[in-house]
Amino acid sequence: MQGLTMDYQLTLPALLKRAEDLFGPKEIVTRLPDKSLHRYTYADFVRRSKKLGIALRALGLEKSDRVATLAWNQYQHLEAYFGVPSAELVLHTINPRLSPQEIAYIINHAEDKVLFIDETLVRLVDAIKDDVDLEHIYVYTSGEAPEGFTSYEDFIRDADEAEFVYPDLDEDDAAALCYTSGTTGRPKGALYSHRCLCIHSLIVAMPDAFNFREADTVLPVVPMFHVNAWGIPVTATMVGCKQVMPGPHLDPESLLELFQDEEVTFTAGVPTIWLGILQTLDADPDRYDLSKLERMGVGGSAAPEGMIRAYEKRHGLKILHAWGMTEMSPVGTASYVTSELRKEPEDVQFKYRAKQGIQLPFVEIRARGDEGFIPWDGRTMGELEVRGPTVARAYFNTDEGSDKFTDDGWFRTGDVVSITPGGYVEIRDRDKDLVKSGGEWISSVDLENTLMGHDAVAEAAVIAVPHEKWDERPLAVVVLKEGRSATPEELREYLSKDFASWQLPDAFEFVDSIPRTATGKFLKMALREQFKDYQLT
Ligand code: ADP
Repeated sequence: MQGLTMDYQLTLPALLKRAEDLFGPKEIVTRLPDKSLHRYTYADFVRRSKKLGIALRALGLEKSDRVATLAWNQYQHLEAYFGVPSAELVLHTINPRLSPQEIAYIINHAEDKVLFIDETLVRLVDAIKDDVDLEHIYVYTSGEAPEGFTSYEDFIRDADEAEFVYPDLDEDDAAALCYTSGTTGRPKGALYSHRCLCIHSLIVAMPDAFNFREADTVLPVVPMFHVNAWGIPVTATMVGCKQVMPGPHLDPESLLELFQDEEVTFTAGVPTIWLGILQTLDADPDRYDLSKLERMGVGGSAAPEGMIRAYEKRHGLKILHAWGMTEMSPVGTASYVTSELRKEPEDVQFKYRAKQGIQLPFVEIRARGDEGFIPWDGRTMGELEVRGPTVARAYFNTDEGSDKFTDDGWFRTGDVVSITPGGYVEIRDRDKDLVKSGGEWISSVDLENTLMGHDAVAEAAVIAVPHEKWDERPLAVVVLKEGRSATPEELREYLSKDFASWQLPDAFEFVDSIPRTATGKFLKMALREQFKDYQLT
């Protein structure tokens, strides 16, 4: 016997309609490239999202065609978040920090038809235009479009929002696509359904997670091109929060000014951002009035316990540590303080808050060790596996990476964890050959392969070494061919043809040999141990 409740589809247009009905006068504020502030209301946002949907439909695209963005956190991007899926198309957010080659690869792999690009990023088009086959490019600008381009404003100007009809979508229809470089091999696409994004919004809005209320003012520092800005824009729109978008200006002063002037109550980003802000606050603790700021979400890399303490003790600011992945839409756990933990001394509480946290509802976890699934004893380690309605079940349009999905329907995260009896997950190691610098992935395998193409290089292994500001930076360990020589400068120069400058190793160490496993693979664990105290200059 089935329940007698409605077969109601969980879709983004339903959230847009809610915003239209309820939140018309609420504000959305954006810092523009020239640092001035753009202000408009949810009513404007809904009207323009509908115009965008109408204009896109008029291009004659087919259902589920991909519409890409290369943009910051800005109001036009929010319009794309809702306008594109409400036109039965798929929003593909692209990370502008990737190299032009990677961006071109991703655009081609996704078969993007349309690209919206911010005026500050237009030079990227020159770098990729010969390698991609985009039908339409529109530029986000508050003024004239650069020579040879059409502005987004011109594109939507004549679209009549009165023609917009909320579509009758299936909740399993694709709504958004995001590529992760957090795997070995080529970047891979996580394709989110409407249902997934709606459920994700409901679970991260919970009090033990982001705790979003209508009266909040929310500022995502985490970029909208990075896994839906951890779901913040959609969740904030669902709840009706005032939204503040920092645009391209992510330096501590610009952010602190917005926190203060716009009375931000919740913000979130990677540890690197918070370490920078902490330094600015420590230097002059009374410069900004942050009395409205209640919670700061930190994730993407481990939030150091010292940083959580420093914010709380020195500045009265509360950090919520969370963990997730692109393949999980992304948030999976949040390190809130349970009623049991509240009984413990403060020092113990800080230790737990620096762990990655407790699974959110509908995120099931288990961890596989050498001898089967590990007990939740806080000590035994195993690779974390997850499943749930917000977890990917395959990568978009490729069989590569299929080994990440188990036969019984779980996703292998590549994070090696222990789990306490109370359910706190702690990441202890990583089973992925990658470096995470300031929240962005650098593929050590790609660097190694390119380095080994250099005439003088016999072998090269790239590992992550700890870095105070960026959390991790790449170190290249190189064996030169007999009788050949190469300087670090030459190797950097050689790599810079294929990699963005922030992806290049900070240092090169020349050695006689690289330790290997029994099967001949580089023994990265041994190298990481050997260089764990490496001082980057
Ligand atoms: P995001 O950076 O948004 O978390 P990615 O898919 O780029 O998403 O990266 C996911 C990976 O980042 C995780 O598998 C884990 O290795 C690492 N990660 C994410 N959050 C944390 C965290 N709080 N602590 C430690 N590592 C984290």
